[in-house]
Amino acid sequence: MTSQRTRERMITRLREQHIGDQRVLEVMRATPRHMFVDEALAQRAYEDSSLPIGYSQTLSQPYIVARMSELLLAAGPLHSVLEIGTGSGYQTAVLAQLVERVYSVERIKPLQLRARQLLRSLRHRNIQFRHSDGGMGWDTHGPYDGIISTAAPETIPEELLMQLAPGGRLVIPVGGDIQHLQLVVRTDSGFDTEIVDQVRFVPLLGGVVK
Ligand code: SAH
Repeated sequence: MTSQRTRERMITRLREQHIGDQRVLEVMRATPRHMFVDEALAQRAYEDSSLPIGYSQTLSQPYIVARMSELLLAAGPLHSVLEIGTGSGYQTAVLAQLVERVYSVERIKPLQLRARQLLRSLRHRNIQFRHSDGGMGWDTHGPYDGIISTAAPETIPEELLMQLAPGGRLVIPVGGDIQHLQLVVRTDSGFDTEIVDQVRFVPLLGGVVK
């Protein structure tokens, strides 16, 4: 059930859902999504659904991972990307194969540790992890030419906008009960915002969990 054929079906479905970026499709074909969830859920890993990863958090459905990656990469190759919400590390793994360096922040320590261990064992060497509140961004390594958040704030934190390089792209779900995926591009004079899809993410929370 976690075979190459099952993965192949996921890729076919993503194409039908109008994911057109070949690089994203190739990387998702090569990434063992079943390793990012509990063994009991492994056989469902390539289905078109989000899956629980513990601590009331969820791994996004393949379509959302693909869509967000595609939006981030649409203007060309990226050097450094900040990810808010490491979670299982699946989106992190996908990004690590598409950009030069990934900086990933998670507020729940056990999730961070598990993801870090898994991504090391999968030999991704271009990821740095941090246990902190990603609402503040991670200014040490900024500005970033891409920022992606897999948790939804009510409004976009100012810090994230400030850590975006000129021409940089921020992909983020925004809202409460009703959320929209937004693409924000930093221009010479300010920020251009595009509303992409209605989505459902876990909330971006403040503080950290040890
Ligand atoms: N990208 C993840 C999705 C995990 S769900 C994956 O592929 O599995 C969103 C994650 O964001 C959760 O792990 C949650 O703990 C984390 N999160 C929520 N608010 C955060 C914050 N302020 N800083 C860092 N991480 C946060």
